[in-house]
Parts: sequence; C-alpha cells; structure tokens
Amino acid sequence: MKHTRLGYWIEEAGEVAPGASLAGEREADALVVGGGYTGLWTAWYLRQLEPEARVVLLEAEEVCGHGPSGRNGGFCNAMWISLPSLRGRWGDEAALAIAVAAEQAVGRIAEFCEREEVDAWFRPAGYMQVSTAAAHDGAWLAALEACRELGMPEAMRPLTRAEVAERCASPVFREGAVCPSSATVQPARLALGLRDRLRAAGVEIFESSAVRSFREGADGVEARTEGGSVRAGRAVLAIGSAAKGRHGPLRGRLTVASSHMVLTEPVPELLEQVGWDGGECITDCRALLDYFRTTPDGRIAFGWGGGRIAMGARTKGRAEVDAAVIAATAAHLYDYFPGLRGKRITHAWGGPIDASPTHLPEIRSLRHGRAFAAAGYTGNGVGPTNMVGRSLAALALDRRDDSTNLAFIDGATPRVPPEPFHWIGGEAIRLGIQAKEEAEMAGKAPGKLASAAAKVPELIGFHIGR
Ligand SMILES: Cc1cc2nc3c(=O)[nH]c(=O)nc-3n(C[C@H](O)[C@H](O)[C@H](O)COP(=O)(O)OP(=O)(O)OC[C@H]3O[C@@H](n4cnc5c(N)ncnc54)[C@H](O)[C@@H]3O)c2cc1C
Repeated sequence: MKHTRLGYWIEEAGEVAPGASLAGEREADALVVGGGYTGLWTAWYLRQLEPEARVVLLEAEEVCGHGPSGRNGGFCNAMWISLPSLRGRWGDEAALAIAVAAEQAVGRIAEFCEREEVDAWFRPAGYMQVSTAAAHDGAWLAALEACRELGMPEAMRPLTRAEVAERCASPVFREGAVCPSSATVQPARLALGLRDRLRAAGVEIFESSAVRSFREGADGVEARTEGGSVRAGRAVLAIGSAAKGRHGPLRGRLTVASSHMVLTEPVPELLEQVGWDGGECITDCRALLDYFRTTPDGRIAFGWGGGRIAMGARTKGRAEVDAAVIAATAAHLYDYFPGLRGKRITHAWGGPIDASPTHLPEIRSLRHGRAFAAAGYTGNGVGPTNMVGRSLAALALDRRDDSTNLAFIDGATPRVPPEPFHWIGGEAIRLGIQAKEEAEMAGKAPGKLASAAAKVPELIGFHIGR
C-alpha cells in the first residue's frame, strides 16, 4: 500500500509541471490567496464577472489543488442534509436560499466540466445516507421533513432497507435516504482542470508562493511572499485550515480536524455482486462518519471523517499521514464488504479538515471591507466551494447580487476557545463521540462518560453532524 500525503487522485491525474513562484512586485485588481477549490472558483467567477480584471492567485504548495481540494472523497453534494441546521441558525427563507444555491453549485460544476471539456469524472449519481445501527435509524427524518416543509420534497427521498440493498448490498446497511442531486468527481482532475482553464483565461497563478504577511488597509491590500509582493484593490483569503493560524483571518472560528482515506484495487466483480453499479456516494449516519464511493475502473474509495484534532492550525504531520487511523479505517472497510477480504488496498492518504462550530462554511469581511476570508466546510466543500467562490468574487468586485445576500456571509456564529483548551476539549469530545458511536454500532448502550462528552458541543452552541 502506498501511504502518502497527496494520495491516489493526484497521482491518477498525472504529472503536472509546477508553475513559477512569485518574484518581484506586482499590481492587480483582485488577489486570491489559496489555490484550492475556494480560491480557484473565486478566480473563475472574477474573470466571468469582469473579464478584463487583473487577477493574481498565490498558492503555497508546488501545484494548486495539492491540499484537501485534490485529495478528498469527491462527493459533490448540495446541502439538503444540513437544512434543519441551516433553518435553526438562520430561519426558513435564508436556509432555503443557501440550500438552493448549493444545489445550483452542483449544476454549475457539471456545466463547467462539460463546457470547458474538463474530464473530472463528474457523475450525477445521488448521495445515499444509510443507517448502520438501530440507534441511527431515521437520522435523516429531520432533513426529509425540512425539505417537505420548505417545498422541496424531491430534494431527498427515504429508502427502505430493500431499496438500500438494491442500490448497494452490505450486511451492515439498514434503511436510509437519498439526495438525487449529488454527484461524484475525481477531485484532483477538477482542481487541475480549473487551474488550467484559469491560466488560459489570463489569471496569473504563482505556485510555491506562500503568503508570509498580509496587510489590509482602507486603500487596498498587500501580500508578501518570500520572493515578492502583490498589491491589489481587494483580496480573497481562501487558505482552508491555515485560516486558523495564529494570525489567520478565522483563527477564533475553526477547528482543524482530519480525514483519511484508503483505496482498493479494482474490484468490478464485487461491485456487480453487491449491485453497486449506480455510482452513488454513500455515508453512514455517524458524526465521525464513514464515506464510500466507486471509481470508473471499479475501485472502492473509503474514508473516515474522525481523524485527530490538530493543535492550532497544524495541517501537516498526522493530519495528512496517520498510520494508526489508516489501519483502523482499512479494517472497518471489510465489515461493510466482507467480499473484499484478500483484495489489496493500494493507496492511503489524508488531509486537514477546516471544521467550523456550525459545521457550515462562512465568509468573513476583514476590517476595511477590502478582504474576505472563507472556510469552515467541515469536510463538505466540494460542491459548496463553488457557491462560496461565486459569492467571494462578487464581494471582491464590490457587487451586490443574490450571491452576496446569503446568510453565511458575516453571520453571527460561535467562536472556539483559545489553545490549548480548544485542543484538549476538542480531543476529549472527539474521543467521547467515537466511543459512543462505536457502542451504538455494536448494539450496546454507550457509557455515561462517552455520552456526556458527546453532548458537550450542543450544550455550548456548537453543532456536530450535518
Ligand atoms: C480526506 C478528505 C476527504 C474529503 N472528502 C470530501 C468529500 O467527499 N466531499 C466534500 O464535499 N468535501 C470533502 N472534503 C473536504 C474538501 O476537500 C474541502 O472542503 C475543500 O477542498 C475546501 O477547499 P478550500 O479551497 O476551501 O481549501 P483547501 O483545499 O484547503 O485549499 C486551501 C489552499 O490554500 C493554500 N494555502 C494555505 N496557506 C497559504 C498561504 N499562506 N499562502 C498561499 N496559499 C496558502 C493551501 O496550500 C491550499 O492549497 C474532504 C477533505 C479531506 C481532507
């Protein structure tokens, strides 16, 4: 098994020549810091809205998309499953506007891939949430009800146990629900396709160009890297988990967790056996969830969203390569598909997760309204980054439209405690949730301590789950 930080998708997408790094001084109309999906989509919409705008993008890694955007599970979801949480936080009208925008984002990604001829394996296959323990049956009911009550009954449908088995048969699957608007992508191909089309559209992209200092004033912004600087009218900081850094724009608003994935060798005969030919992306119902999907050559990609919490904004080390978590993840995969025993796991990797206390993304304006920071997707950014990138582009051009009215822009949200209390508390809660959910999966009553720890987030106004 190849266990690396960059993982399978980036390898599969093929070798890419790294771009030049920033050297000397530059001027731009808009600066984008961060070449993950949020930054790439922002740059894309900046050019769509103002084709003449001078846009510069700075990325710390050797190549854009080498962060979580090129390494994720490739579930391209709308946000219907989060509708109850959106409603609770912002009310019906605002919640519906976000959920509709998130569904449109999936459509826009499809359109982008088709029109720009980016072969990112976009497959509209639906997302299935499945219970794997009696305690989790009906976990989707609140979302189903919210969709019905807000006039979107088609956004999510319940599935009986037999209907689940028809789509994918596993001894641990029970009943579930499906969101038909979801899709899957090959994440690295999408990120690299965007990078490529942006360059063709005239966006100046500098790689290996980590921003070391950033200043925002009433007259504009300035970013400095080791080799140069960019002055611009406005900026977007799309730096994912790094936004939690000591001087990061979202330092009081994020937790850096991690997620890790394994990939099997091609097993087309097993997929046929279990009837998983529709390409659905699937998760269980836990807060620290298991997620699965297939690839065109018949592999299963399987991930766990419960990796360790990092102290501060440490996005390297065990946030990316964690042998213990990979061993546990791989072992768990066989419970779902016993027919995989004897088959090879060929790749493993992981990456940081920018978790927000609401589990929803957010955009924050900086002090002078000349820069905007966005993160907090909590492991669900593949679709929503397109929606957020559209909003960021409009904000950076000082435009006001439907994309700048969404409630996650400068909304009131809870803050996380300072370090080290945040890390100690976060790890205790994570381990509590893990113990509770493992007991539930084994059909046992969770221990009192684990149940108490798992309840803490809701008591302090944080939301764990979708
Ligand atoms: C293993 C794993 C599985 C996941 N699975 C899914 C999934 O199936 N579906 C889903 O919706 N989401 C999933 N996610 C989450 C998803 O990948 C993220 O929500 C999404 O990629 C966020 O994009 P982003 O552009 O905001 O951040 P990132 O992808 O983190 O991009 C930020 C970029 O900023 C750069 N940067 C940081 N600091 C600086 C600096 N100082 N200067 C310049 N550049 C900087 C980084 O190098 C990085 O490239 C998963 C994540 C992981 C790790």
